[in-house]
Amino acid sequence: MTGLKITKKKKVAWIEDYLDTLFPHPKCELNYQKDYELLIAVMLSAQTTDKSVNLVTKVLFERYQTLEELKNAPLEDIMTIVHPLGTYHRKAVYLLEIARILVEKYDGKVPCDRNALEQMPGVGRKVANVVLSEWFHFPNIAVDTHVDRVSKRLGLAKENDSVLEVEKKLQKTFLPENWSKRHLQLVLFGRYHCKSQKPLCKECELKEFCKAYQSKN
Ligand code: SF4
Repeated sequence: MTGLKITKKKKVAWIEDYLDTLFPHPKCELNYQKDYELLIAVMLSAQTTDKSVNLVTKVLFERYQTLEELKNAPLEDIMTIVHPLGTYHRKAVYLLEIARILVEKYDGKVPCDRNALEQMPGVGRKVANVVLSEWFHFPNIAVDTHVDRVSKRLGLAKENDSVLEVEKKLQKTFLPENWSKRHLQLVLFGRYHCKSQKPLCKECELKEFCKAYQSKN
């Protein structure tokens, strides 16, 4: 099959239309009620699924209902709770340290500041982007494994681009007011359609100009 020869502008418009059709009201699939619950859930989500994180945080935040309680929780107990998520020792240590920093340094509030967020253990650019976008409603495109894969398959970024390069390219591709929505849509598209293994290319309306699909067909 020959790919459609269209301009980048048209291709982006097509992608945006398709994402809007598939996910008109995209939502973060991590469960949380408080700012620190979101921060901890996103930190815990490294190398695992949101579904697994939701099962763990349900137990965690029911047992420790305030940041103060969480800060004073025994490491052993936190390790047991987060065990299903993998790298549980490290995640438990990070979690307790984040709770301590929030209580002692930020009066129990998650700071609305990228540098402050990124100084916390287990919190890198992606986690900070998600928190700033999801809780504080700052336009952001957090690049996780799904966003990275989909962007490269579609040719919105190059195969060897770093996560930061992908983020910058997506910021140039989409309008700032849509960044947070596009981030969520690309996550969901990667999670349920353009999956890592066996992407659903047959039913995908982007295949006519998808770089990855065209290179294989
Ligand atoms: S055609 Fe396949 S690889 Fe390309 S975007 Fe669609 S699902 Fe992903």
